[in-house]
Order: sequence, then structure tokens, then C-alpha cells
Amino acid sequence: MIDLRSDTLSKPSKEMRKAMYEAETGDDGRIDSFGRSEDPTVRRLEDLSAEISGHEAALFCNSGTMANYIAILTHEAQRGDSILTDRSSHISRSEKGLFMEHLFGLTPEFYPVDDHGIPDSDAIENIVKNGQSRLLLLENTHNAYGGTCISVSKMKKLCAIAHLYSAPVHLDGARIFNAAAYFDIDVKALTSPADSMMFCLSKGLGAPVGSMLCGNRDFIYRARKLRKILGGSMRQAGVIAAAGIVALEDAVEKSKVDHENALYLARNINTEYMKIDVDAVQTNIIIADISSSGRSAAHLVNELEQKGLRLQAISDTKVRMATYKDISAEEIKKTVSIINNYFNNKYL
Ligand SMILES: *Cc1c(COP(=O)(O)O)cnc(C)c1O
Repeated sequence: MIDLRSDTLSKPSKEMRKAMYEAETGDDGRIDSFGRSEDPTVRRLEDLSAEISGHEAALFCNSGTMANYIAILTHEAQRGDSILTDRSSHISRSEKGLFMEHLFGLTPEFYPVDDHGIPDSDAIENIVKNGQSRLLLLENTHNAYGGTCISVSKMKKLCAIAHLYSAPVHLDGARIFNAAAYFDIDVKALTSPADSMMFCLSKGLGAPVGSMLCGNRDFIYRARKLRKILGGSMRQAGVIAAAGIVALEDAVEKSKVDHENALYLARNINTEYMKIDVDAVQTNIIIADISSSGRSAAHLVNELEQKGLRLQAISDTKVRMATYKDISAEEIKKTVSIINNYFNNKYL
């Protein structure tokens, strides 16, 4: 089975498993006199993440969702406050707890984005100037728009606008290494303009578990306390942090291979039955519109699964594919032939 549903399907490499086996550990739920984790491997991962992101400090979290929650609450968003995001951000679509009245009770305020999910800075300026939003949220790469990337100049501009009106910026950079690979730059060029940022170790980077929250020392100190309150302290977490450290080696360069695979795939399956905006295929995600194939996404997914290929239906008319390190160029070629054979047999 070729499984392209998500890059979260990536498996820990042999090297990661070896590092996990050998990891030095401590109680990550306890802090030393410097306010740091007692787990030495977690400390190493946090230091490395801080350095890569261009922030002073970092906090190891069990998931990206947890890291986003902690970040938003550490920025002191409180019940009734509105926070600025776009309608199709991961935070609006999946991390609903923030906006549930009986949970965190925040209110989303939506800013418009273009066809590639890039935020409209003039509209954001108008909203921040007049509104009550406490916090600007950005997502780079944008998951629902197919892994599209916000440039460094746009990141700086958006952050400058928010800062002008004293609103902090949190970057959901679950796949920020993919954006850095697309622009061929250091991650920190994209992440340092934001006040805080999160990235996932468990997606394209291939680690089994975990996400990093990065920010200044005071922010991370407060975030660590909140993580404990939310039940996110993890004890001998060095075992999984060790895999994260391996995942960060050459992460930007390695994701370029996934991007080449995605682009090759997109170019070779883009037909009227499976319409792809190839310009949006900037990183490792492909979204295809199958409206004119005359079948629902769920039905197509089902039929392709019988041919040995798994895709993700993301709406009635759209499917998503993601490439990651365990998907070889050969499997990509096989995918091309499964999809094209399927449509040729059905329609010719
Ligand atoms: C996956 C993802 C998250 C959440 O990460 P989990 O580890 O699955 O909780 C947040 N934001 C974006 C953009 C994502 O793609």
C-alpha cells in the first residue's frame, strides 16, 4: 500500500530508534534551579530548537495542537477575547477547543487570504487597528491550501503591522521546514519575526512524537507552567526527544526530496478529472479537485485503495496527497500509473 494520506505517517528511522534506545533521561516534569527540564536530552532538543528558530528558548510539547494551545493561552488570550486567524487555518478547523464556549471560550476573527492562503496585510491592518483582537495567528506552510508558503518579506510585514498595534504574533509553523526549503533559506528567517512559533517534529521531519514551542525566555518559562496545568508534562521524555534531535539534522535539505516528489506527482496526474493548481504545489502537499470525475472524494478514495493507493478525502470534491521521507521516487511513479490507469479505464 502506498499511503499518501499525510506526512504524519512517516516512521522513525533506524538512526532515530538507536538514539531513542541510548537516550539519557530525567524527569521532564521537574525543573532545575535555572527553570530547565531535568531531562538532559529534552534540554538538548530545546536548545537546538531555540537556535534553529532564532528564539531564546523552546519547550518540548507532545503535539502541535498542545503547543498552539499553550502559546495562545500564554499570550494571555482570555475567555471572550478575539484572536485573528483565517477561516481555513488548522487552528480554526481542527483545534476547536480554543473556540468552544465551555472550554477556552475565545472568539475567532477571520482575515481574508488569497487563492494560495496568503494573508491580506491591508485587511489585517484594518482589523487590528479597529478591532479588539489580542493576537495574530499565521500558518506557514498553509495546510488547507496545499502547503503554500509565506515569504520572509511578507512575514516581516505582517508581524510589523501587528506590533504597531501591540498585538503579538504566533506562528503555526507545523511545516516551517518545508517553507524554508521552498525559499532555500534558514528557518529562522521565517520564524524570528513572530513572538512565538510552533513546529512539528512528527510530520515531514519524521520523528514519532512531538512539537516544539519557541519564544523568549520569559514566554517559555510561563508556557512550561501552563503545559503542566494542561497535563502536558512528560517525565522521561528524553526517549522521544532523542528522535527529535535526529529529525532536525539537515531537515531543510531532506524535505527538498519530498518537494521534488510532490511536484513530479502533481505534474503527471493533473488532468480534467483530477485538477491541480500546480503553482500551489510548493512543498510536500497536493490538493486535487475531482468534481468533474463524477464521483465523490470518498468514493474515489475507496476505489483507489483497492488498487493499492491511499489518499485523504478532505471534502466531497477534494482529495489530498502528502509526500514524506518513506515514500520513494519509485512509489511516486507507481502512484502516477495507478491514478492515470484508473481514470483511463473509467473514461476512455
Ligand atoms: C498537524 C498540524 C497541527 C497540529 O499538530 P498535531 O501534532 O497533529 O497536534 C497544527 N497546525 C498545522 C498547520 C498542522 O498541519
